[in-house]
Amino acid sequence: MLIGVPKEIKNHEYRVGLTPSGVRELVANGHKVLVQTQAGLAIGFTDEQYIQAGASIASNAEEVFERAEMIVKVKEPQPVECRLLRPGQVLFTYLHLAPDPEQTKLLVESDSIAIAYETVTDERGGLPLLAPMSEVAGRMAIQAGAHALEKAQGGRGVLLGGVPGVAPSKVVVIGGGVVGLNAARMAMGAGADVTILDKSLTRLKEIDMVFGGRIKTLMSNSANIDDSIRVADLVIGAVLIPGAAAPKLVTRAMLKSMKPGAVLVDVAIDQGGCFETSRATTHQDPIYTVDGIVHYCVANMPGGVARTSTQALTNATLPYMLELANKGWRQALLDNAHLRNGLNICRGRVTHQAVAKDLGYPY
Ligand code: NAD
Repeated sequence: MLIGVPKEIKNHEYRVGLTPSGVRELVANGHKVLVQTQAGLAIGFTDEQYIQAGASIASNAEEVFERAEMIVKVKEPQPVECRLLRPGQVLFTYLHLAPDPEQTKLLVESDSIAIAYETVTDERGGLPLLAPMSEVAGRMAIQAGAHALEKAQGGRGVLLGGVPGVAPSKVVVIGGGVVGLNAARMAMGAGADVTILDKSLTRLKEIDMVFGGRIKTLMSNSANIDDSIRVADLVIGAVLIPGAAAPKLVTRAMLKSMKPGAVLVDVAIDQGGCFETSRATTHQDPIYTVDGIVHYCVANMPGGVARTSTQALTNATLPYMLELANKGWRQALLDNAHLRNGLNICRGRVTHQAVAKDLGYPY
């Protein structure tokens, strides 16, 4: 199969759909890869590296879309890209169609086969192609939070791990899923005093088994959230209720009980945020202060570490790409129900129940 990798065109998107090592695997399996020139240059993947891995280089996106049988990307296709898709062509990328009627309409009209990373499932009920970005965001939340705690950023002027003779900072993580666990691990590694709150007792038990006493666990309820944020230096918001807006677990009134200069990092901002005072920010201007509490609410955190994120994404997507390329999309989806859950649009029809329901398409 000929697999095409266009350069991402969304504002400040430096990730790319495939690393050179991913290209090498596909080529070793007998496939051809066409990469748009400079697709990975911003994160240090040069055309020469792609060529060495066995790819050919296309001079523009039109050539990639015209020749490839499967297009591999990171972000949802922009309108100009949707119009380049050909009938029967496979598109494998993040789509997030439910809140995006325009993109859905264009993909339906394109007559292509659109498989979304975010709805591919695994046997444990997880979302294996969403998880790598949650891992990145969770780990980054501590890095971002530690920076925001510095005096010059408006923070309390405390070091996460303290030093010998000075107590470490208190980090409270609300939501112990993929983001929360990765944040907690990083905070623990930095020497902070870490507490995770989750409303799933099963999850809290798992965390307790893995980390023993090194990470404290607390049931997530309003009393425990009140008590925890009052003593916290850094609070990470990492909750998710699938398919729903994030619950507002910290209200504006509650900020008054917090230590001045404490930091809130709302990773759940892409679902509306779990702090009442959260509003989405960008990597260019990531923090703001409300009632003396510093907020970091970047909606696309993984984009800030685009090279790591690209490598993590290719690690996760490559096995599915190989399956699609080796068997052809039809057979691959027939054989693998989890990959089939990724199918959102197939030749003019919306084939994902939730997307069809939200946007009023027949299913
Ligand atoms: P996940 O499903 O792995 O974990 C969510 C956890 O939240 C679960 O353990 C669940 O039990 C818990 N939870 C639900 N309601 C809760 C409550 N009231 N109190 C405490 N815990 C509660 O999800 P995830 O992959 O960790 O993602 C978390 C959030 O981070 C999502 O909103 C996701 O979209 C977002 N995210 C944002 C970025 C970004 O760049 N900002 C990147 C990746 C993920």
